[in-house]
Parts: sequence; C-alpha cells; structure tokens
Amino acid sequence: MARAALPRRLSWQAAEVVELVDETAGARSIVLDLDDWPGHRAGQHVDVRLTAEDGYQAQRSYSIASAPEDGHLVLTVERLEDGEVSPFFHNVAEVGDEIELRGPIGGHFVWSIEDGGPILLIGGGSGVVPLISMLRHRAAEGSNTPMALIYSARTEDELIYRDELVAMYVEDWIAGDQKCIRLILRQRCKRSFDSLLITGLQQAKL
Ligand SMILES: Cc1cc2nc3c(=O)[nH]c(=O)nc-3n(C[C@H](O)[C@H](O)[C@H](O)COP(=O)(O)OP(=O)(O)OC[C@H]3O[C@@H](n4cnc5c(N)ncnc54)[C@H](O)[C@@H]3O)c2cc1C
Repeated sequence: MARAALPRRLSWQAAEVVELVDETAGARSIVLDLDDWPGHRAGQHVDVRLTAEDGYQAQRSYSIASAPEDGHLVLTVERLEDGEVSPFFHNVAEVGDEIELRGPIGGHFVWSIEDGGPILLIGGGSGVVPLISMLRHRAAEGSNTPMALIYSARTEDELIYRDELVAMYVEDWIAGDQKCIRLILRQRCKRSFDSLLITGLQQAKL
C-alpha cells in the first residue's frame, strides 16, 4: 500500500469487502482488499461504482480513510437515508461482496510527512475522513509534526473515530509532545470529549 502514487490512467478495478466497522450509528467504515492498488497519498479519494442486476449504475466519490502505510484501503461512508449509494453500504453490503472503484484521485488536498507542518485540519461530519488519513499517516510514520484538528459534529455520538482520536492525543501526551495533536470540537461535544481525554490521560499515568 505504501508504493508511491504515480500518475497513471485510472481504470475500474474490483475491490472485496473484507470488514465492515460501525464507527457511529450513521457512519460505517468499509475495509477493502484490492489486487492492484498503486498506493495513495493521505487526502486523496476514490470513485466507487455500483451496478444493479439490470445494469443500472451509480457512481459516487469517497475519501480514503486509511493511511498510505495500511494494508487495506478503508472508506468511511455516512448514511443518507434517502440517498442512492450510501444506504447500500449500511443496509446491503456484506463481507465478501465485490464493488468497483478507481483511484486514487486528487493531487491538491494531500499531505505527506515530507511536506512538514504545522498543519491545521478543519472538517465536519464525514469531512473528517481525509483528515484521519493524514493523522493515521502521521502516526504510522512516528512523526511529531504539529497537527491541530478542528472537528465539528452535531453530538458526541456522531464523532467519527472518537476513540482513535482520543488515543492519538494521549499517545502524543505520553511522548511529551503535548503541543502536537490538538483536538478542537464544537462546544456541544466538547465537555464529554474533554472528559474522555482526561480519563485517557489518567489511565496513561497509571
Ligand atoms: C471528493 C469527495 C469525497 C467524498 N468523501 C466522502 C466520504 O468520505 N464519506 C461520505 O460519506 N461521503 C463522501 N462524499 C459524498 C459522497 O460522494 C456522496 O455524495 C454521499 O455518499 C451521498 O450519496 P448517496 O448516493 O447516498 O446520496 P444521493 O442519492 O446522491 O443523494 C444525496 C442527497 O441529494 C438528494 N437528491 C438526490 N437527487 C435529487 C434531486 N434530483 N433533487 C433534489 N434532491 C436530490 C437526496 O435526497 C439526498 O438527500 C464525498 C464526495 C466527494 C465529491
């Protein structure tokens, strides 16, 4: 997965669903296995294409959540009840299914360790997906590049990757890099998230 993303003609390829992870009640991660993935940079996305039995096709874009270093490609899809494609991943998709995708796509909104920092990441709802790829890339490389994440969600329960973000914060704190990852949340979520951070830090002290 860590191979450099070289410019090449994009073609559709089959991806097998190997795991489905419910991140929140409305957001699910789809872990995919691909035979011929050229590698990606954190921040890029893919196009996903679904084909019905009668040949009807629907195509949507999804950001890549996994780090370039990960062994699988991970997408996180938020369910829109009246949507055409996103409910498929929540109500229909099963481990072992095959979908089609092409990518990676996008060359401007990307970040690699070599680009340095400090970095300010701002996202709301599923907009956090490409940002977690950058945070995961940073963690996978053991980098202490300062990164601040401003993340907006309606409620604490809708914070995608909540526990992972807490763990990243605590890990930085243990390493003595308290000024590295900063998490700034919308006020409504902030109090409970702060208590999660405090609990995580207290456990780390033990
Ligand atoms: C670069 C990029 C990255 C993205 N990354 C992510 C990601 O990581 N995670 C994620 O969850 N999403 C992401 N998206 C959004 C994703 O591509 C889809 O738009 C989203 O999943 C909704 O698709 P859907 O088929 O479920 O809904 P759609 O069927 O596309 O419907 C979307 C909304 O539009 C309404 N609508 C549809 N047709 C009409 C019409 N004719 N008139 C009026 N209203 C209509 C529907 O009722 C619904 O509320 C990304 C988009 C882009 C462009």
